Amino acid sequence: MYCPFCSALDTKVIDSRLVSDGHQVRRRRECLACHERYTTFESAELVMPRIIKRDGTREPFNEDKMRAGLMRALEKRPVDTEQVELSINKLKSQMRATGEREITSEMLGNLLMTQLKELDKVAYLRFASVYLSFEDISEFADEIARLGKESLGRGKRSKKKTDKK
Ligand SMILES: [Zn+2]
Repeated sequence: MYCPFCSALDTKVIDSRLVSDGHQVRRRRECLACHERYTTFESAELVMPRIIKRDGTREPFNEDKMRAGLMRALEKRPVDTEQVELSINKLKSQMRATGEREITSEMLGNLLMTQLKELDKVAYLRFASVYLSFEDISEFADEIARLGKESLGRGKRSKKKTDKK
């Protein structure tokens, strides 16, 4: 790329390091003509598939919602945040690896189940018991969030899905 200060083409990389958990490369560059320094970030261009809900509507994959639900359900379980982040990254890689622009909430649910099984068996069973009665990942995430606020493990299921096809 051209120097943003003088538009010269020759720049020298003076420092290069991985940032944001290895998902970006940060490069410090110096222009050989004007000697100004600037930073560039490089990351792969990846688009997450959208989620097809059971009623046919589409919504963007909401990573924050997924993370919040997971963290609440894993409360008081011996799983550290780093492991949860790794699982979320794996899940996202699997979603992208499908090569699809849209995937069903059912498929997302199954990918999540696989990650949870590796993370913590108790949390997995809690999730499974709730998820399988909803079969819709966004509804499921809401329910998990709700369960997290109460005490986990009572297996309470007051909400019933009624609009099954
Ligand atoms: Zn320059």
